[in-house]
Amino acid sequence: MSSKESSNNLSNNPSATTGESAGCLYVVATPIGNIDDISARAIRTLQEVDLIAAEDTRHSQRLCQHYGINTKMLSLHEHNEMTRVEQIAAKLANGLNIALISDAGTPLISDPGYKLVRELRQKGYKISPIPGPSAIISALSVAGLATDSFSFWGFLPAKSSARQQKLKGLCSNSETLVFYESSHRIKACLADIIDIFGQRQAVIGRELTKTFETVLSGSLEQLKQQISQDPNQQKGEFVLLIEGQTGTVNKVDTDSKQLLMELLTELAPNKAAKIAAKITGKKKQKLYQLALEIQGKG
Ligand code: SAM
Repeated sequence: MSSKESSNNLSNNPSATTGESAGCLYVVATPIGNIDDISARAIRTLQEVDLIAAEDTRHSQRLCQHYGINTKMLSLHEHNEMTRVEQIAAKLANGLNIALISDAGTPLISDPGYKLVRELRQKGYKISPIPGPSAIISALSVAGLATDSFSFWGFLPAKSSARQQKLKGLCSNSETLVFYESSHRIKACLADIIDIFGQRQAVIGRELTKTFETVLSGSLEQLKQQISQDPNQQKGEFVLLIEGQTGTVNKVDTDSKQLLMELLTELAPNKAAKIAAKITGKKKQKLYQLALEIQGKG
């Protein structure tokens, strides 16, 4: 164990197949805009580890200076990630603790780190999360769209034809769809989504946690108009959330209704809806409403 490590208080260092003396890789979430959005444990970890692997060491200097973090840094970005694996594994084997951070939010979420974590996990090293901000969860928490099931698709392809192709494959998904988008593509992206999806409820979370934070909510067409009319709304970082395809209660097919009727002879509506949802893949809430209608309570 290094001297820094032996005097520190890094907790919850899980056991691993590499032996008790090996160090731990801490995957540490950092702010997505507001510098205050970092946990006490994240700061302490960054102060106490032996090395920080950062997506961009210069970018992360600001955060480190702000919190009095003087730990040595090493770059780990998409172009050198694989070559860093062996170096980091060797340091962990020597008992050093290492933190992985990205420029913003949670590493590995549309950020480098996946290959490193995959390889280290295969080698049996200890890897522990220090959770915190991520733009996906921040946006979902304020969107008012269904969160019981959602899927995250990162950035859509840059070229319109590839983007439309991707969107066609997602069109019938019933869960809330979450995308990241950049300022120079948000308008074109919305136009393609409308072409493929038609009208749906959607939310745009822009510059979350920052000075010009905006959350726009409405139909896709309303959002497109709001963004087109106001150049300020085209600046910054975006999370785009789109309601999944909804079968309204009226559209729930006869098979689902018959199944529910059978289940309701034995079960309460919530239990019947839960089982019907598992069998049909339809939304439990919709099936629950239908169950109440069947029982004359809806
Ligand atoms: N690792 C990050 C996370 O956990 O959210 C994401 C990094 S990804 C390279 C950057 C993208 O995330 C941006 O282009 C934007 O789509 C989204 N994003 C990051 N910060 C954001 C913010 N404050 N508001 C809205 N979107 C944000």
